[in-house]
Amino acid sequence: MYLKTEYPFFKNGLYMANEIVEGDICQQNSCHHCCLETEMLITKKDIQRIVTKTSISAKEFVTLNDDGNRKLKNKQIDSQLQCFFLDQNGQCSIYEFRPEGCQFYPYIWDLTEHRIFIDDYCLHHNKFQKPWFTLSKRLEDFIFKLFGKL
Ligand code: SF4
Repeated sequence: MYLKTEYPFFKNGLYMANEIVEGDICQQNSCHHCCLETEMLITKKDIQRIVTKTSISAKEFVTLNDDGNRKLKNKQIDSQLQCFFLDQNGQCSIYEFRPEGCQFYPYIWDLTEHRIFIDDYCLHHNKFQKPWFTLSKRLEDFIFKLFGKL
């Protein structure tokens, strides 16, 4: 998921996450565009939850980005890089307990302007509601949890 290769979380200095709202729009459109070449960051809590639910070792699905932050691993399928957890039907195999960042997408956070917006990398971005305060606060809290500061 995310801005070509450096997407889900960082996009030209912008911080992004997945949608924590409804996955209906993605499912109705059979879309997993944001799960390709993912750069989605994951928290220790995400990792613990996924390991507990799947019994898959963290080293199987976690790697580090250039900034030393933990992120989801991609796997190569034919000529395509895609999230370790994207199955052969284009579905997230851990949807119910996917990383918190994945849950927020396509809502992302602008670290410079301190505001939430909808990432236009998402093929269906115009179908999502405008960001609202509650979601904005949750994103802020999430980023604080991840980086310890805003
Ligand atoms: S964990 Fe699921 S929702 Fe998140 S990038 Fe991977 S396949 Fe997509």
